Amino acid sequence: MAYIIDGKRISGEIKDEVREQVEALKKQGREITLAVIQVGKDPASTVYVGNKKKACEYVGIRSLAYELPEETTEKELLEKVKELNQDGQVDGILVQLPLPAHICENRIIEAISPKKDVDGFHPQSVGALSIGKEGFVSCTPAGVLMLLKRSGIEIEGKECVVMGRSNIVGKPMAMLLLRENGTVTVCHSRTQNLKEIAKRADILVVAVGKPKFVTEEYVKPGACVIDVGIHRNENNKLCGDVDFERVEPVAGAITPVPGGVGPMTIAMLMYNCLWAAKRENE
Ligand code: NAP
Repeated sequence: MAYIIDGKRISGEIKDEVREQVEALKKQGREITLAVIQVGKDPASTVYVGNKKKACEYVGIRSLAYELPEETTEKELLEKVKELNQDGQVDGILVQLPLPAHICENRIIEAISPKKDVDGFHPQSVGALSIGKEGFVSCTPAGVLMLLKRSGIEIEGKECVVMGRSNIVGKPMAMLLLRENGTVTVCHSRTQNLKEIAKRADILVVAVGKPKFVTEEYVKPGACVIDVGIHRNENNKLCGDVDFERVEPVAGAITPVPGGVGPMTIAMLMYNCLWAAKRENE
């Protein structure tokens, strides 16, 4: 039986730690503010934005919500970002993705001040991570790293396989594991012998965006399996990229879906907002 890595508990601990530090800063007269921009009414985005707002309330971070209409032009959005960049009261800026097709996401991400880039998507943040400099780290991979560390899973010298190479999950995940001295292999849709490579892993991080893709055939007995995927199955129940029922008996440790990586993403966003404010104070 695998050890179940409890993302709900660990994310709760992180939020409580952030809350304590936010309170301490408040006592010194320093309030932290996160600005969240949503363009259009994508239902999934509305849920994510709502959850971020709730987390802000819990930890004591002030959240400013900008709900812009679907027809907002790229120029108008850039102006809003610029205004928030210049607003001394705002510590973090988050533009909820995806944006409507007529707006170039990269141009918007690049317009956010790297000092307020709490999502960690700005090229400067990504570059800092890849050369080992301090900077914001994308919340989901940062959450995975936190799960590993707080579950006592050693990374140094271990074979780490990351399945998926997206800019927001796979690539920063690989960089983080490398920073922790893991031996890292990144797989993607063109990888050959995927099962054999995955089976080498002591730590297997799965972010392929395909429900129940990874079965026991991909997993070395005793490996730690981290499932980043989130999907709804035919019965509207949540499931991940890993077939939990088949993999759990083989793995040494595993994250469930829900209750694994999911809650960590928002906890790390709160952590990044706190860090933005502390960094600014310094
Ligand atoms: P993505 O942008 O769609 O990237 C998927 C990656 O998987 C790509 O690099 C793709 O390779 C690779 N891939 C696809 N099919 C594959 C296959 N058959 N074999 C090997 N690699 C394959 O997805 P993402 O944004 O990284 O997200 C991944 C999953 O995590 C999704 O289920 C998403 O919903 C979830 N997610 C969860 C959170 C959270 O908070 N828990 C946050 C973000 C994402 P190519 O590059 O070759 O196309």
